[in-house]
Amino acid sequence: MTLRSINLVDPTRYYSYSLELYPTRRSAKPNPAHYLLAELDRKGFLKGVITQNVDGLHQDAGSKNIYELHGSLRQAICLECGLLYAMDEVMKRAGNGENPPLCRECEGVLKPNAVFLGNCSLKARGQSL
Ligand SMILES: [Zn+2]
Repeated sequence: MTLRSINLVDPTRYYSYSLELYPTRRSAKPNPAHYLLAELDRKGFLKGVITQNVDGLHQDAGSKNIYELHGSLRQAICLECGLLYAMDEVMKRAGNGENPPLCRECEGVLKPNAVFLGNCSLKARGQSL
């Protein structure tokens, strides 16, 4: 079973699985490379950071202009209307038994706002990903 099929066929399995890993993933800290890029950004040597990382650690290190090619696990996106949510809030709701977490606006299923295997064309409200 791929991550895509877990997510789209039975999103409850994705959230059940992720609830165990989320605290560890969320407690990750930037490494020296993240801080070096942020310092180069602050000093004006970079116009931005282009990354495939989905962990948000460039933001934590202080980089400002970040292009996340594969999205971010710090957000969830409604599969129906594209509304974005903070993943901390979504995982808290899942942990409180709302599994899968649903959009407050349209009751669509919320998916991590990162590219999953076989998934590449979601749109956020007003912008292409
Ligand atoms: Zn929605």
